[in-house]
Amino acid sequence: MLTTTHLAVVILIGFLLPLDRNEWLVLLTFGVMLDFDHVFAAPRYIGDNGWAAVVRPTWDDGSGEPYKSLFHDSVAFFVVGPLAIGWRFMLPLLAWSSHVGLDWLQNNTLAYSAPVESVVLIVSCAGIVWFAYMRWSEIQEETSFGMYVLHLRDSVKAYLSP
Ligand SMILES: [Zn+2]
Repeated sequence: MLTTTHLAVVILIGFLLPLDRNEWLVLLTFGVMLDFDHVFAAPRYIGDNGWAAVVRPTWDDGSGEPYKSLFHDSVAFFVVGPLAIGWRFMLPLLAWSSHVGLDWLQNNTLAYSAPVESVVLIVSCAGIVWFAYMRWSEIQEETSFGMYVLHLRDSVKAYLSP
């Protein structure tokens, strides 16, 4: 799936589990940065297929050339599994599974790639907003979602103003 979708899913996982900074780094590394292998394959792939092919879901041009590293293969379990020992929630394995699982879902629903990806992205983003709202409302006396939206607007305004 697109890196943005992986990022949204991983952020939602990070909100569900109370993680510290180190654990967030592990979560992002195994859940999102896994796609960094595409960068190495990109020059050849784009050279052969053109820039428009970047949004093709599989990056498979029928050449049989690999555009993903073995970290995208189930065999990587034997590397990530042992690495996960000692981490709370087996975090590296959890993050890696979320990534490989989403890619698996995409490869098995290729005909509906765009709608499936959209649903995953929208549900994840809705979950993130909901969790952020719940956390915010815990420390407020009186709350409504409308007040939360106003709070977000003011925060953005304060952040952007010099
Ligand atoms: Zn991937």
